[in-house]
Amino acid sequence: MTTTNNILSDRVMGLAESETLKMARMGRELKALGHDVISLSLGEPDFDTPDHIKDAAYQALQDGYTKYTPVSGLPELTKAISEKFKRDNNLEYKPDQIVVSNGAKQSIYNLCQAMLNDGDEAVVFAPYWVSYWEIIKLSGGTPVPVYAGVEKDFKPTPEQLEAAITERTKFVLFSSPCNPTGTVFDRHELEAYADVLAKYPDVYVISDEIYEYINFTHQHVSIGSFPQVKDRTITVNGFAKGFAMTGWRLGYMGAPKFIADACSKIQGQVTSGASSFGQKAGAIALTTDLASTEAMREAFRERRDIVLSMLEEIPGIKANHPDGAFYVFPDVTSFFGKTDGNVTIHNADDFCDYVMSSCYVGLVSGSAFGDPNCFRLSYAASEEQLREALRRIKEVLGRLR
Ligand code: PMP
Ligand code: GLU
Repeated sequence: MTTTNNILSDRVMGLAESETLKMARMGRELKALGHDVISLSLGEPDFDTPDHIKDAAYQALQDGYTKYTPVSGLPELTKAISEKFKRDNNLEYKPDQIVVSNGAKQSIYNLCQAMLNDGDEAVVFAPYWVSYWEIIKLSGGTPVPVYAGVEKDFKPTPEQLEAAITERTKFVLFSSPCNPTGTVFDRHELEAYADVLAKYPDVYVISDEIYEYINFTHQHVSIGSFPQVKDRTITVNGFAKGFAMTGWRLGYMGAPKFIADACSKIQGQVTSGASSFGQKAGAIALTTDLASTEAMREAFRERRDIVLSMLEEIPGIKANHPDGAFYVFPDVTSFFGKTDGNVTIHNADDFCDYVMSSCYVGLVSGSAFGDPNCFRLSYAASEEQLREALRRIKEVLGRLR
């Protein structure tokens, strides 16, 4: 007899649901049942897209930008991206080395499909963004984590990176500012990684810089700007975070030309490229001043400070001090083994389930990001929601013995 499992591929059966999107869905479902849920699970700015960007999309529609574009992107956008890379990041990618996609997520998917053969290894800094792991696996690759915990600000040493590299390593993948930790890698740290990679000329780097503009140190460094790895770094970025454009599905990469061409070939068979009017608006976002982006960044910084000071008041929570993105990633091992009389917390999954079921605050367990000792809290929410959520969390954790 045919079961649904016979119908579905091994590929999809082996794939985990995106934990971030799952927690967001669960929050919506509980809300629909009438519960007062505060969802701090999704990494999505709560701000609206700035008006000048929306206006550019309306205008593009009026002007007839309603057709397919070149697969890799409208020439005016690939040119704007090339100039942005030079201006902000000291990176040299010509317009024909740029591929615009339906979100940075698709850029990463294209890259993994283009670069990984079955059994190839991809070194991933851990904690890592959920989708890296699954996309690598979906592409036949084997993710190899290089882990550093909260006490190291989640920064692996160059020695750890070197130890993870084998004959089968195709690339190293990480984000800075980092999702889920908010960690920002500085110039010296990135240079030390580049020095290691200088010894392995066949290993490429995928640098995910989608949180570039949400950096409270004001010093974003791109690893691709170091001569040691300049010619083999792919820089991924997008509009979702810095311009509050998650729903627009617009991201991009700069890559060595043969990799950009390979990604474009894949994209041409899969999505044909990003939406035409969205791309027109993206070009405006990159070529006008960043005042609205900076205002959002400042709001995120204030919220980070509120969240950190409230977390400090909760005994047992060991929070990091993130310099970017909009996440905190606290360690909660001190709660393991504790109970409220009904439920016992064994790990971060139990911790998040306990918080959700006892006070309706949605978090994401660190296990989805390669660290089962921590949870991720997204502070892309209003100050009022954050204060209330942390008040509730403190109260329910106080019941644990
Ligand atoms: N990389 C990281 C580190 C992210 O947090 C996200 C957020 N979704 C993405 C890539 C994908 O972004 P996009 O919405 O542009 O697909
Ligand atoms: N990157 C965001 C997050 O980590 C959005 C959700 C997703 O794309 O998985 O929550």
